[in-house]
Amino acid sequence: MAAHADRFGAVSRQIWESPELGFHETRSSALLQQELRANGFDVTGGVAGMPTAFTASFGSGSPVIAILGEFDALPGLSQKDAPAQSPVVAGGPGHGCGHNLLGSASALAAVAIKEEMQARGLKGTIRYYGTPAEEGGGGKIYMIHAGLFQHVDAVLAWHPSDTNEVNLHSMLANNGGKFRFYGVASHAAAAPERGRSALDGAMIMLNAVEFLREHVPQETRIHYIISNGGSAANIVPAFAEVSLIARNPDAQTLNGIWERIMKCAQAGALASETRMEFVQGTNYSNVLPNDTLSEVLGRAMRKAGGYEFTPEERQFAAEMQKTLDAPVRKPGPEKVQVDKSEGFGSASTDVGDVSWVVPTGQFVAATFVPGVGAHTWQAAACAGSSVGRKGMVVAARTLALAAVELFENPAEVQAAKAAFQERLAGRHWTTRIQADSPPPLDYAVK
Ligand SMILES: [Zn+2]
Ligand SMILES: [Zn+2]
Repeated sequence: MAAHADRFGAVSRQIWESPELGFHETRSSALLQQELRANGFDVTGGVAGMPTAFTASFGSGSPVIAILGEFDALPGLSQKDAPAQSPVVAGGPGHGCGHNLLGSASALAAVAIKEEMQARGLKGTIRYYGTPAEEGGGGKIYMIHAGLFQHVDAVLAWHPSDTNEVNLHSMLANNGGKFRFYGVASHAAAAPERGRSALDGAMIMLNAVEFLREHVPQETRIHYIISNGGSAANIVPAFAEVSLIARNPDAQTLNGIWERIMKCAQAGALASETRMEFVQGTNYSNVLPNDTLSEVLGRAMRKAGGYEFTPEERQFAAEMQKTLDAPVRKPGPEKVQVDKSEGFGSASTDVGDVSWVVPTGQFVAATFVPGVGAHTWQAAACAGSSVGRKGMVVAARTLALAAVELFENPAEVQAAKAAFQERLAGRHWTTRIQADSPPPLDYAVK
């Protein structure tokens, strides 16, 4: 591990320096593929109809242990590795979710696992999944549809955060899309009676959604923008578009809420005498935690341990924390928290979909200064700093120790499968993304 940590730290920095949006991670994906190939992995690029998706395998036969990697950036979060807001390119993309670290740490772990397998003669396959466009494009869903997760025995995944933590937390199921209203244009003052406003359709829909908000379970999230509201105030808008996402801890509950949101949209069209068309967007499942893999990861993270800030890093952290809006009540990166608490993170991920088809264990590592949340300039700054790279090594060590334990002890893999069935409780993975629908390769630049 130590032999490769600097190299993959540099890889993470290189990806951070040229942030690429989902499905456009050409350089990032190529760099990770090149590093894995150079380390003896058998790499297949452009899988599942996505140019930047790839798999990299070492070994043969079972068990097949998979490690997930992501490398897409976020729009508008360009940021220098400094504790003050300062974009490299104003309005440009940036690694505000730390996926430069996510993809690189997972690759570092894969290489370390491979060397351990060779050294100890461990049987099985270690496979890295290069999964594009986690931030809305859902690359993993298309990889599942393409059958790439068949015959995988267990998946290990992690995410950058401001603490080192293993627990049984889940993430919200989400569904989103565009509601397009088509009306009739006319002069808004001279002939308003001849027009049918698509914007009226959108606004009636959203008013209905606001009333609906009173009658959905507490944990539900519904958020939207009017992505097109017409072109000029003196023209009755012939076209309007609402971009909306809804979330709930349970995919089935969310389906019920979604039916009611569709009725709100239909009501908007009916009342405004416009036509409504729905275009499916993101649909992610909630994460199904795995009790066995969580225990394996907990042991691994305790062994991996946290890390200490240098005086310079402590200074960096203190300055950054002054820019946060709330007092910081988080443990430092030297702490490792392992527990069996269940709960829901308020975001969503396509790791959720994977967790419904293969036993999946995940955890977070302290790549961000305590108190810093994802999707912020502060997170983007940390992802390019030595703090991010130290957290990345904690993640890689944890992944590697856990995977080696699974290769050494096939009974753990069987136990993970039993735990998976118990959580599934007879249910199975469903998605609104059709098996034959092509990946939305242009989603991020729309
Ligand atoms: Zn994110
Ligand atoms: Zn993320």
